[in-house]
Amino acid sequence: MAEGLKWMQCPVCKETLYWKIPKEALKDVKRFPAAIVIRHHDHYLICYLDSHLQLADTEAVAAFVEADVKT
Ligand SMILES: [Zn+2]
Repeated sequence: MAEGLKWMQCPVCKETLYWKIPKEALKDVKRFPAAIVIRHHDHYLICYLDSHLQLADTEAVAAFVEADVKT
């Protein structure tokens, strides 16, 4: 498997999915576990990576909403 690729079973649709660790973005992370949001088809997942970039936890997102800014 290519370096930096993670795989997991999607907790929503049970498909096996692969995703690339955003190493550049993680360089600035000061606190671990770091949360990564993954979009899979029409649903979202959150993965937590520890400081060794190992998968610490995974959860399905119950809902996704865009926040509005009051003007
Ligand atoms: Zn899925």
